[in-house]
Amino acid sequence: MAIVSALHEELAAVLDLMPDEQQQRVGGRTYWRGHLYGQEVVAVLSGIGKVAAATTATALIERFGVQRIVFTGVAGGLAPGVRVGDVVVAQQFLQHDMDASPIFPRHEVPGYGRSTFEADAGLTAQLARACEQVLREMPVQLGVDVLQSFAMDTPRCHQGLLVSGDRFVSTTVESRALCDELPRALAVEMEGAAFAQVCHDYGVPLAVVRTISDRADDAAHVDFPRFLREVASRYSSAILETLLRTQ
Ligand code: SAH
Repeated sequence: MAIVSALHEELAAVLDLMPDEQQQRVGGRTYWRGHLYGQEVVAVLSGIGKVAAATTATALIERFGVQRIVFTGVAGGLAPGVRVGDVVVAQQFLQHDMDASPIFPRHEVPGYGRSTFEADAGLTAQLARACEQVLREMPVQLGVDVLQSFAMDTPRCHQGLLVSGDRFVSTTVESRALCDELPRALAVEMEGAAFAQVCHDYGVPLAVVRTISDRADDAAHVDFPRFLREVASRYSSAILETLLRTQ
């Protein structure tokens, strides 16, 4: 299984748990091969954006022969009710900045005849179960101070459409426009749909979970680094532990 995040803080706690790892450099990125909770894994930081995501996914499949990919990271909440501290487990992916119109319909990926790509149903169901379990324990683990400082109370797990593009969405105007254009979109980030396209090309199962770090609005950048350190890294490691232990 491949375990991927975009940012170091999203995976730091997991990499600390891989004492027998072997590091290998490919295409400018470090791949950690080792074991996590008894499972053979390859862990990597993809970096930010769709191109970095696509080359990482390709290397994982071509060079490391991974049989499934789990991505964990953060995203901005779009749909009403998708709040900071909630998690979104992707069922479909779409590139919100794909636009070859008028030759192709808006958002359609040329050559594929489609604008959305699917997550693997089985792996996604396992990931969603792990998330539900972790969310039940998370408020106690995080403690009152952290919960209050991010205005979190009872975190929820949402499943549905995740949209990706090469833009950190950090204005209310932009996030409203995305919601109007793509009313089914739960959250926005910068890598998921690129992984989904590559995994579709190779027939490799993919599951993605994103902890909501911001609401993709004018305040999106304010607490971002602190949220990564204090909340997102703990979500990622707890979710992966639960997922891997139940394999
Ligand atoms: N300030 C950060 C930049 C992170 S870019 C830094 O210095 O490193 C944002 C990362 O988090 C991307 O990997 C993306 O997938 C995710 N993300 C979180 N909130 C987002 C938002 N509102 N819009 C787009 N991507 C978001």
